[in-house]
Amino acid sequence: MKVLVLNSGSSSQKSSLYPMDETLPDDPPTPIWEGKIEWRDRIAEAEIKNARGVVQKNRAKVSSRAEAVEQLLGTLTTGDRPALTSLTNIDVVGHRVVHGGPKYEGPVSLTPEVRAGIAKVSDFAPLHNRAELSGVPQIAVFDTGFQRRMPLAAVVYPGPYQWFEQNIRRYGFHGINHQYCATRAARLLGRDLNSLKLVTCHLGNGCSLAAIRDGHSVDTTMGFTPLEGLMMGTRSGSIDPGILTYLIRTGRLDGQRIDDVLNTESGLLGISGTSGDMREILAAKNKGHTRAKLAFEIYVHRLQAGIGAMVAVLGGIDALIFTAGVGENSAEVREAACKQLTFLGLKLDDAANRQRTSDRDIAAPDSAVRVLIIRAQEDWAIAKECWHIMRSLRHD
Ligand code: ADP
Repeated sequence: MKVLVLNSGSSSQKSSLYPMDETLPDDPPTPIWEGKIEWRDRIAEAEIKNARGVVQKNRAKVSSRAEAVEQLLGTLTTGDRPALTSLTNIDVVGHRVVHGGPKYEGPVSLTPEVRAGIAKVSDFAPLHNRAELSGVPQIAVFDTGFQRRMPLAAVVYPGPYQWFEQNIRRYGFHGINHQYCATRAARLLGRDLNSLKLVTCHLGNGCSLAAIRDGHSVDTTMGFTPLEGLMMGTRSGSIDPGILTYLIRTGRLDGQRIDDVLNTESGLLGISGTSGDMREILAAKNKGHTRAKLAFEIYVHRLQAGIGAMVAVLGGIDALIFTAGVGENSAEVREAACKQLTFLGLKLDDAANRQRTSDRDIAAPDSAVRVLIIRAQEDWAIAKECWHIMRSLRHD
């Protein structure tokens, strides 16, 4: 079975192709084809990786996501030793959909009704201009699905109850990866997921934590939108809402500007004034840049406070998991985050923390809490969901 995964970001489109057998492998396989295209001011940079690890890069003009997807799919069947002879060889397409709203939880077939029901349709890849794919099943996997059943106490905002009735509630995001990390952690630890208390730290450009008990998310830091919670690359995370009413009342910012400021001019970038990229913040801080140092300290402070809150909600912790760009790659952030957690009996193995391989335990042998680095594998998680759905359809 050949599964194509389409993963749309606000100005990027990623895609992977997995061949899948009758049984699922224990460890995530490398896709036989991976494509990523990012665009800014109508110029797109594409990067295609084949099964042999050969990377091909090019720049082109794109004016829409549809064109970007078109370009990516074109590379599946062209070039030296293409991944597919024809797109008709694809058996199922899995889409990551950022927001399932109050209605959608588990993966569903992308029928016209589901398509219409998804709030931000622009956020997922259109395929209708590819005739070869018109008969191929399409499955939507929601990034809000895993958090959909959090307890009401974690879901409902303490504003007027009518907000909740109007679906203004906490949804949480990054659910595909939080769930994947929980399952993977149980496997790496050789434990039953249903007996574990886990805190997963997804630290990428966007950052969120999840508190996971017995395989279910019981709390998370992102809420109605991905703005709530931790400090991020260019997003503020939680701030006093009184700041916003103050800025509006005094005529300093209108609604649209507030949205822009909080999403694209805040976080590491807003404080440092230099970059939202953690690599650059660390480099600047280590050269003595005062505001980069402050940005790092706020980031770590909020991360520590967030982890503490998640542990308290769980009433304990068996393993702390770091994932995504910063979580997987920055020994410095992991060390700083864990520094205040020794009261839990958590002890990092400093040498293991500095090694550069993922999916491993970096806690000291005598630590009371395991600490894991797990590589984010959203595409593989989506491919697995598609595999399960296709199998159940076949056996119906
Ligand atoms: P996204 O959330 O867009 O999927 P990623 O998970 O790729 O993003 O994470 C991007 C972030 O990871 C950036 O802030 C980048 O600086 C950070 N990052 C990547 N490599 C490193 C590294 N070696 N050290 C610190 N941060 C890193």
